[in-house]
Amino acid sequence: MTTQYSMPPEELKSANLHAPTDLDEQMIDKVLEEANRAIDQGKAGVGAMILWRGEILALGHNTFEETGDMTAHGEMTVLRQAARRLSQMSAEEKADLSIYVTLEPCLMCLSAISFVGIKRVVYSALAEDANEEQWVAHGISIDKLNSSLVRGPLELVAGVKREAGKAILARMHKRS
Ligand SMILES: [Zn+2]
Repeated sequence: MTTQYSMPPEELKSANLHAPTDLDEQMIDKVLEEANRAIDQGKAGVGAMILWRGEILALGHNTFEETGDMTAHGEMTVLRQAARRLSQMSAEEKADLSIYVTLEPCLMCLSAISFVGIKRVVYSALAEDANEEQWVAHGISIDKLNSSLVRGPLELVAGVKREAGKAILARMHKRS
């Protein structure tokens, strides 16, 4: 267990933070690879993936460079890719959805994830690892908002292979 949380234990619990499984670590590798591939091609490097019962429903990256759409974050890209499948799922089926991201989701993406009904969010770098100009609101991170979500708190698995996630951010910043 290499994840470092900067929170006392009772806050960890109320934030619904969990340790990664072996599968989570394997799947995070896939989104890290996706992000690095995107950066190699001169694109924005945030990778995301939706997993359901061992099946990858969508794998993609931030598509701002391709589309000019500033809302095309990695999470939004994969939510749209998987939209048809997601819309056909029952609440019981949705309970087995996980989204994997190389960077902690922003407020927009967190809202989208909650609206869609995904219950589990696994991410590598934390918001505090990014430049503050990439944030939506000062000091707001998912773990702080989680207990306020109307549709229920998400199961959070934060900081999985965080150093690799931070290395991707460093590659992006070096280029811009
Ligand atoms: Zn976002």
